[in-house]
Formats: sequence, structure tokens, C-alpha cells
Amino acid sequence: MFIPFLLLGALALVGYRYRRVLLRRRLRFSWESEALNSFHDVLVARFTSKGFAYQFTRTFYDLGAFLGVAGVAISTGILACETISLLKAAQQSAPPSVLSKRELKEYLAAPEGGETLLKPLIPGVTIPLSEFPLLIIALLASQAFHELGHIVSSALPPAPASLSGVGLALQGAFVSLLPHPDDAEYPWARVRNASAGAWHNVLMWLVLWAACHIGLHTAVRGAFWRDVLPDGLAIISVDYASPLRGHLELGALIVALDDAQLHSLASWKDYLLAPTPHPPVDSGWCVESATFSSQPTDCALHPGTALFTPYPLPSFSDPSQNHCIDPPSVFRDPAAARCASSPSCRSPSETCVAPAADTQLLRLQIKEADHGHTIVWKGPWREVFEQVRVGQYVPRVPLMPVWALPTLEAFFEYLRSLTLVLALLNLLPLRPLDGGVVLSSLLDIVCVPSGQEFDDIELGELELFRRRTARRSRGLVGADSTLIARWVHNVVAMLSLFVIACSLWVWTVRGP
Ligand SMILES: [Zn+2]
Repeated sequence: MFIPFLLLGALALVGYRYRRVLLRRRLRFSWESEALNSFHDVLVARFTSKGFAYQFTRTFYDLGAFLGVAGVAISTGILACETISLLKAAQQSAPPSVLSKRELKEYLAAPEGGETLLKPLIPGVTIPLSEFPLLIIALLASQAFHELGHIVSSALPPAPASLSGVGLALQGAFVSLLPHPDDAEYPWARVRNASAGAWHNVLMWLVLWAACHIGLHTAVRGAFWRDVLPDGLAIISVDYASPLRGHLELGALIVALDDAQLHSLASWKDYLLAPTPHPPVDSGWCVESATFSSQPTDCALHPGTALFTPYPLPSFSDPSQNHCIDPPSVFRDPAAARCASSPSCRSPSETCVAPAADTQLLRLQIKEADHGHTIVWKGPWREVFEQVRVGQYVPRVPLMPVWALPTLEAFFEYLRSLTLVLALLNLLPLRPLDGGVVLSSLLDIVCVPSGQEFDDIELGELELFRRRTARRSRGLVGADSTLIARWVHNVVAMLSLFVIACSLWVWTVRGP
């Protein structure tokens, strides 16, 4: 079981060895703009006057810097825990089962994949392929907000950087900042600038989290969308390839499945994913006895028909009593007489029948604007769950598509997950990432011999912290701090590649 992990570990090492080649290739696909350069110049000019805007912005990003320092430790801790979890997952006998149709929230909360924290978002494998554009837009939005943090923070004195451009590459949004010539003199400013992006991401996550918990999203939803429960569930989308596509109108309500009224989203899922054999029907249907007995008995020769049997089911089934009927001819009329047994039918010429046990028939009772009808599905019920998406809300605003709400909700769910992931990922102490800059700048603060002048830090506590740490680490010189940073970088890089490769293997290759 460990062999694939060792192979992946070796692959990770090779990837790490040739990272420069990979990086150079990737950077060829990039687009850059100078549109925000003047905005950055305005910020630099404003902050240089050291007024309120400067004081406020500096305090704000200093808070972010403290969080960045803690974040480097937290993200490294998570990486170490994840490595251990993946090694444990290798020993598990039951692999995670992957169902791409699941909602993101449900997928992230699912305990599958052992105890691993990382759950890769792989379109078509772990999340629906149709949500790939949402994932990309959410990723770009959280990256853009991250980069805005770097742009604003880097304009702060004492060593403001110059912005040479903002752009897009295969790895996402980026900013090109030219450091101030005196940048090396101000390690705390470097910590602050490097932490600003992750600080923005954490703030974004907090705002989204708070909006959910104070009920803001419920208020917005109530203003623009109408709750259709307890009448049924609204049809949000039907797969292009689904046989149901021409029969189900978006926005129409599904009132009941067979005789079970839909009173929640869970009832839809529970009924369709219930283990087979499915529950027996509550009552039968009255059909003309003569017509019923004249029908064929071998349904394989008559496509479109299904086997019906007298109701209630006799204790000893006689195959000659079962006949093949076109199901919609029995179910289509919602007012069709139901029966507990043949004598309870209105006419003595009628007999009470019901689908045979293994026919896999499902009745979808539909309510459209002015009428109701029944659609009959023949096949595994799970397919209906996979092909039809239902929801609890329909828009109040005319012309607003019915899928707008679930799309918006999915987008904010992605944004909330990705912004936090982006913060933690960027704070890993790797040289090209913000965490690498935080670590090397911190080492510069700690390893400078006491007595040397520092930058113009105004926070008393920080000054104290640095004096203490500088005293404690007297004797360490620049070369040592570079060596420590390099070692941390190498270990974290290899662990990261190992975790990425193993996570992908656990979630994709090792299928059920
Ligand atoms: Zn960053």
C-alpha cells in the first residue's frame, strides 16, 4: 500500500528538482497591465504625508502582519498534519467514494477521504463539471482581493515599492512590485507587505461568514425569491442529455414522487437514493378487467410497457395474471380512481392493479402554472437525482432565471472556501510565496546582532519583542538565517508536493 506513496514521493522530488524549468514555461502565458500604476502612485503620495490615512492603513496592515506570522506557523502545522493523515489514509481498506453531483457544502463536510483535511476540488470528479466556471471566477475574485492587499500595503512608508503592473498568468492574478532600494533595511515592513494579501483573504472570509450568520443572505433571498415549500420543489435544471429534458419545465414544481409528498430537499434525495427494492405503493389503480387481461405478458417484446400485477399483491404470484401496460395510460390522469382492492373500484368490470415489484417505475407529479400532470420514469431512480436539480426558491423578479439563486449560492460557497485556502497556501514558508518572505524577514529581525538600528517601527511591543529575540539569538549572522530559511523552504516544498500528489491519488486514481 505504501509503494504508490513512495513513488509519488519520488515524483515530488523530481518535480521539485526541475521546478525552475516548469516555472519558466508557465510564466510565458501571462498578460500584464499598467492601469493601476497611477492608483499606486496616488497612495504613495497620500501616505508620505503621514496623516490619518497613513496611520489607519499602517495599523490595519500591522494587524495583518501579526496574523501573517501566526499564519505561517498554522499553515506549516496543517501541512505536517496532512502529511501524517495521508500516510494513515494509505493504510485504510475503504477508499473514499466520489460523487461529483454533490453540492460543494455537502462534499466539504463529508467525512470521506479518511481524516484528511485537504479535499481537492476537481471538476467532473469531486465537484460538478458545470461549476468549473464558478470555481475559476471565485478563484480570480479572491486572488484579485489578495493582490489589492499587496498593492495598498506596499505604498506605505518608510520604503514604498513601485508598482510596475498587474496581470494574469496561468497560476492566476499577480502584481509586479519593484522593491524600494532600502527595502532590506526594513524587515518588519517586508513582513507587513507580504502578509497583506493573506490578511485581505482572511477579512473576506470573515465578512462572508458574518453575512451568513447575521442572516444577511436570508434577507436578500427573501426579497428576491419566493419559498415554494410546502407545495413542492422547483425544477432548477435538467441535464442536456437527460430523457426528462423535454418533459420538465424549469421553474415548475414537483409536488410528489409516487405517493410521497415533497416537503424538503432531503425528502427528494432520500426517496430517490433509497436502497432498492423501493417501498410498495399505498394503493392500486382501477383499470378495465377485460382490457387488462388482453394485454401481453412478456414486456421485453413490447418496449415502453411495464409489468402490472393485481393489487394487493397475492401471497403466491401467478405470472399469468401479470400483464404489460403502457404506464402513462394508467397514471396520466391525476383524478384516476385509486383502489385498495378490486371490489373497491367503482365498476364491477374494473380490476385493481399496481406495478410489479421490480419495474423501477417512478411517478413525478408536476404542477405548472395552471395545471398538473404526471410524468412516468422507468429506470434507476438514482438517475433522476443525478439528472434533475431541484430547489426550494423561485425568483419573484420576472425574467430572472430560476438557476440564478443556486448559482449565486454556489459561487459564494466557493469564494468562502477558496479565500481561506488562498490565505493558508500563500503563508506556507516557501520562497516564491508570501510565507517565504514573512519567514526570511522574521529571521532577519531575529538574527540581526543587538545594537544595530532597525526601521522606524512605532509599535512598542514589537520593538520589545525584537530586542528580546535579537539578544537571545546573538551570534547568529545573516548567512545562518539564509541557511535556516533555505532548509525550511526545502522541507516545506517537498512536503507540499508530496501532499498534493498523494491527495490527487487518493481522490482520483484510487477509485472504489
Ligand atoms: Zn500574495
